[in-house]
Amino acid sequence: HKTNLEMIKDQIEKRHVELLHLQFVDIEGSLKQVTVTSEQLGDVVEGKTMFDGSSIKGFTPINKSDLYLLPDLNTFAVLPWTEEDGYAEARFLCSVTNPDGTPFEGDPRTILKNTVDKANEKNFSIQVGPELEFFLFETDAKGDPTNRVADQGGYFEPAPYDLGEKVRLEIYRTLKKMGFVIEASHHEVAIGQHEINFKYADALTTADNATTFKWVVKTIAQQFGLRATFMPKPIFGENGNGMHVNISLFDQKAGKNAFFDEKDSRQLSEEAYQFIAGLLTHVSSFAVFTNPLVNSYKRLVPGYEAPCYIAWSASNRSALVRIPATRGAGTRVEIRCPDPSANPYYAFAAIAQSGINGIEKEMNAPAEIVDDIFSMDDDERILRGIQNLPTTLGESIRALVDGEIGKQVLGEYALKEYLSLKQEEWNSYRTAVTDWELASYQSKF
Ligand code: GLN
Ligand code: MG
Ligand code: MG
Ligand code: MG
Repeated sequence: HKTNLEMIKDQIEKRHVELLHLQFVDIEGSLKQVTVTSEQLGDVVEGKTMFDGSSIKGFTPINKSDLYLLPDLNTFAVLPWTEEDGYAEARFLCSVTNPDGTPFEGDPRTILKNTVDKANEKNFSIQVGPELEFFLFETDAKGDPTNRVADQGGYFEPAPYDLGEKVRLEIYRTLKKMGFVIEASHHEVAIGQHEINFKYADALTTADNATTFKWVVKTIAQQFGLRATFMPKPIFGENGNGMHVNISLFDQKAGKNAFFDEKDSRQLSEEAYQFIAGLLTHVSSFAVFTNPLVNSYKRLVPGYEAPCYIAWSASNRSALVRIPATRGAGTRVEIRCPDPSANPYYAFAAIAQSGINGIEKEMNAPAEIVDDIFSMDDDERILRGIQNLPTTLGESIRALVDGEIGKQVLGEYALKEYLSLKQEEWNSYRTAVTDWELASYQSKF
């Protein structure tokens, strides 16, 4: 039986891997990498690669800047688009450590791992399957993105065999070669909008996969002269980009999905209802992780299949939390507010911990909302106790500060960094004078 490392060495030799990209994410979930030669593999796997933490957003101050990369051997992948003349490049995703080898508390991957470990102590393993949507835009002669989308298709539209279809096929082939299990892909509701689904896995693997997915989609799109964007609402009046998060807990002691109970009228367990209650209780204070941008809140408006109200339902797509029809091992909840600009490590950690808090505190889920919430007026929603999600980044920052979940999940160090980043972003937007304001006011007043 070969170890992981031996198999990696075989691959490096067989496929003539010259370069290794050591990748990690910053506070926003943006991919960073330093490239070493394959001969360095021995030192690399021992975590000896150093970098300047003070140059990475949200990491260390200048006077304590040395940090190290510890590759996760499970994330080794040869990059299909680099294979040329018999040579290739490969990558690892890495966790970040302090000079003494201890985990760095500002590393998003470490933060998700902490949440996963805490869940494991309670015999839960967290299973996550996200659905990332994106737009493909044409680029101009200089390669900058334009506001023209790459195709005019709509939801599930098959023909004609347009550029969007071809790009999706190439993304699928590339991800498959990198070890992804791709389940489905389709044209989404908006013109130029697409979705490709990969198989669910444990939370850390899935956060790694989401990070890789965004990078591969952008890379392949660029080869077709297109710009892929995961920004939440690129076009006014069209559907935005969501990242629905399907999540379940696997009870490791009982050896089964903890959300399934065939005796219940909906075949959901007590834990499933408590998990939903935890999500609804904490969602406003974790929205800044699942919906981190000024632009995120332009997606969360009525009429575009994105939620704006805090409610759950078994099948209602106007609700924040939906329970897809699958039962048994596939029983899960789908939370619909997240968008793909989220740092997936923070988003999955905050969602999972909120649900687990619901179980620990035995929270009660409110009544299911089966009616279309978008068509209710304010009075009816108030009567039924349905509250709003935050409507701006400013509101969600305030909810984060007022709530417990941020500190519980990120810890004091990372939370402080994250808050100052978001506060700066909100202030910059809040004080900017926009085209909308000039068009509406300049002549009239
Ligand atoms: N694009 C929608 C959103 O913003 C989702 C549409 C769908 O997947 N049916 O969440
Ligand atoms: Mg989907
Ligand atoms: Mg979709
Ligand atoms: Mg969905």
